[in-house]
Amino acid sequence: MAVTVRFAPSPTGRLHAGNMRTALFNWLFARKHGGRFLLRLDDTDAERSTEAFAEGIREDLAWLGIDRAEEVRQSDRFARYGAAVEKLKTSGRLYPSYETPEELELKRKRQLARGKPPVYDRAALKLTDADRAKLEAEGRKPHWRFLLEQRDVVWDDLVRGRQHVDAASLSDPVLVREDGTYLYTLPSVADDVDLGITHVIRGEDHVANTAPQIQLFEALDAKPPAFGHHSLLVGADGQALSKRDRSLAIEGLRAGGIEALAVASYAATLGTPDPVAPHASLDELVPGFDLAKLSRAPARFDPNELRLLNARFLHALPYDAVADRLHEMGVGGGETFWEAVRGNLAVLADAKFWWLVVKGPLEPVIADRALCRKAAELLPPEPWDVNVWTAWSAAVKEATGAKGKALFGPLRLALTGREDGPELKQLLPLIVRERASARLEGKTA
Ligand code: GLU
Repeated sequence: MAVTVRFAPSPTGRLHAGNMRTALFNWLFARKHGGRFLLRLDDTDAERSTEAFAEGIREDLAWLGIDRAEEVRQSDRFARYGAAVEKLKTSGRLYPSYETPEELELKRKRQLARGKPPVYDRAALKLTDADRAKLEAEGRKPHWRFLLEQRDVVWDDLVRGRQHVDAASLSDPVLVREDGTYLYTLPSVADDVDLGITHVIRGEDHVANTAPQIQLFEALDAKPPAFGHHSLLVGADGQALSKRDRSLAIEGLRAGGIEALAVASYAATLGTPDPVAPHASLDELVPGFDLAKLSRAPARFDPNELRLLNARFLHALPYDAVADRLHEMGVGGGETFWEAVRGNLAVLADAKFWWLVVKGPLEPVIADRALCRKAAELLPPEPWDVNVWTAWSAAVKEATGAKGKALFGPLRLALTGREDGPELKQLLPLIVRERASARLEGKTA
């Protein structure tokens, strides 16, 4: 069967570094195996899910380079879930339970006090028709539990290796609430069946759901897919990432000037033995991608490391890849300017700063008036190219006797107003003679 994977966020928020990594793994897996990648919007929670968040998720994915994914929405599929419920009721695998949350909590406390695991005791299975009628006459409504077969469930996890879970140690999961709404399990499995999902790749926060889900696939007469559970991201301090931290939201990273490919390269190599290196396209990440390379330990997502990677990415970025964005930012100078400044950028927006330095008006800083005046006199006539700087600075050195820092420091401050920056050899022809001359004379230009 053709590989089919899905990324299944709930549209109750935007993507953050953690679920973006899950999306990326699924996409890379599909690419690597010539398969399909689906976006499944888990929007059964009508109160918290919004179209604005769904649109935000699409936008975040598109920014990453995961564009035009086929999409399925759970809210379109309630009829299908109803049919699955009927099937499970008919086969005796779904049973009504009437305990209130308080009653369940009390049971759990008693079990724990007796040193027993807090597993649901299946008291509801012992209710007679008359008991149920009585409870319902009192106004109670049932929630519905999936009857687990009490046996060992085994799967070969694509990341964690062989997993064994004794289903007798688990509570029968609730699939349908008192008010008829679904918990995540049943819609997820019914969709995975109908969409022909062959591999479920998700965070290890879902490992505990897998054994019941495998039994649910079987109860719906379907072959369970393969599962791979990747470890979760932690911050540089080793603490779990907070979903509320806006700087870790995709839109936050983007607003902070981080390039999509830097984030993708970082997220895809974190937790693997591969060196973290910037890639020029998502496709370039495909050959090296292998779930088996992922460590089971939590992966450390360090915003500082990401910023450094972002800078490395920009330093190697060819002009063509960025020309449109520079144009939109009002940055001119073409390829010559880009090549002069890219090595000095931490984020692309810094290019604008250097463009304003080149174009002016800029207030020069005159650290050595005599030297600057002499330097102005010695400026050669145009046309200028990258060789002007070497010849001119040598002439200034000769005429003033200044060398090293005492020579280059004042020239840079006068020409750019800054102590450091891109090579003057490259900047000088872009500053042009008229502005260079004025700045060396201490005039704003
Ligand atoms: N909506 C679930 C989540 O975001 C999907 C989990 C799954 O991939 O099965 O956690």
